[in-house]
Amino acid sequence: VAIIGAGFGGINAARALADQAIDATIIDRNNFHTFQPLLYQVATAGLNTADVAYVVRGIFHRDPTVHFRQGSVTGVDWTAKEVQIEGEDPVPFDYLVVAAGSSTNFFGIEGAEEHAFPLYSLADATKLRNHILSCFEQADADPELIKTGLLTFVVVGGGPTGVEVAGALAELVDMVLSKDYKMLDLSQARVVLVERADRLLPPFAESSAAYAGKILDQRGVDVRLGTSVEAIMADRVVLGGGERLDAHTLIWGAGIQAGSIAGALGVDQGRGGRIVVENDLRIPGHPEAFAIGDIAEIADGHGGHLPQLAQVAIQGGRHVAAEIAADLDGGGRKEFHYLDKGTMATIGRRAAVAELPLGVKLRGSIAWLAWLALHIVYLLGMRNRASVLVNWAWNYFTWDRGPRLIFQPPPDADEPDTPVPAEEV
Ligand SMILES: Cc1cc2nc3c(=O)[nH]c(=O)nc-3n(C[C@H](O)[C@H](O)[C@H](O)COP(=O)(O)OP(=O)(O)OC[C@H]3O[C@@H](n4cnc5c(N)ncnc54)[C@H](O)[C@@H]3O)c2cc1C
Repeated sequence: VAIIGAGFGGINAARALADQAIDATIIDRNNFHTFQPLLYQVATAGLNTADVAYVVRGIFHRDPTVHFRQGSVTGVDWTAKEVQIEGEDPVPFDYLVVAAGSSTNFFGIEGAEEHAFPLYSLADATKLRNHILSCFEQADADPELIKTGLLTFVVVGGGPTGVEVAGALAELVDMVLSKDYKMLDLSQARVVLVERADRLLPPFAESSAAYAGKILDQRGVDVRLGTSVEAIMADRVVLGGGERLDAHTLIWGAGIQAGSIAGALGVDQGRGGRIVVENDLRIPGHPEAFAIGDIAEIADGHGGHLPQLAQVAIQGGRHVAAEIAADLDGGGRKEFHYLDKGTMATIGRRAAVAELPLGVKLRGSIAWLAWLALHIVYLLGMRNRASVLVNWAWNYFTWDRGPRLIFQPPPDADEPDTPVPAEEV
């Protein structure tokens, strides 16, 4: 089995195939798995890069049937049954699992590609952290620059990513940078959260959204609902209605589309370029191929599609491994049934919302503790779990954040998804 992508979907498919001793080769452009839900904490100096990444080969030390190939997949030769890799020999397959995730969608907004900071890879998170901290260094050297928007941080998108980034950034400025930059008047620093809809957290209930808005407001975030971003420049953001906001930083949490490989496969694509799949996650016309996770458009059975969440990818990975094992045993196909385990978003210290099955809604400290526990459980590797736990405990009890390094990566690390040197390991 060839698996494109070492994300939540690919890793879980490989683990389940290993249990059946079925040969699998994972191909990823990075030699590590990235735990995307905690990328915003790397960007806001809460965690180290190595805390949210895990080397793929290390995950499968004890599985003789799972192999890894680092490389960028460019396409699939369906006739020869080979995955094509840039500058490398192709990987042959009997079965294929496409689990290449998503990429940022800037919706064609003027200047977004050049000036916005997306948050989709470890390279993105490191680049953003460097930029935020560099803004404070520049402001310290010349406080007049604050008037040009140097310390105004605009976050676009009021979904979980935007809310989490805005809350963490406000906390970083308030709790930590205010002590680092003693001579600066940080009341001039601003975090602005812009959302086109008239509410935050669209997948959550109205009451959870209202709670998130209240907490962000209390923490000094300027929440602008019903506001769109029209254009982005290096030092300015143009909002709907023509309002201009002086800001040197715009963080993009507004939209995603299928990973670009989806378009190179010659298969049917749905909304956001996602690969259309049958109800057992097979790609129509290719019974030996499956698409899972963010890159797949999976019907939810109610006329819509499943959300792009880690659990959808994890459960999809396990399902396709079972399908392949059943195929090899001469068994029949089974539909994929997604088990919704709920959704959570954290707004910052002791503030989160969680919506669980059976209508259970939590908010505040209890939701925050549940969020912390769940993320520790789903992190890969004991070392990462221990490190994240120690970092969080340190941050919580000392009101400090350790990894405030301005580390300029080599020039080619500007490319999204380019491996980041493990500078903080
Ligand atoms: C900032 C952020 C916060 C999030 N927070 C949450 C959350 O709190 N809860 C939640 O459930 N979900 C969250 N998500 C969504 C969740 O991370 C995704 O749904 C999940 O990662 C999807 O898993 P996947 O396996 O489909 O893809 P991914 O995890 O994205 O993995 C795709 C892999 O494919 C590789 N790849 C892509 N293209 C190629 C190519 N051409 N060649 C080789 N390799 C390739 C990539 O390097 C990557 O390793 C968040 C996402 C982001 C970006």
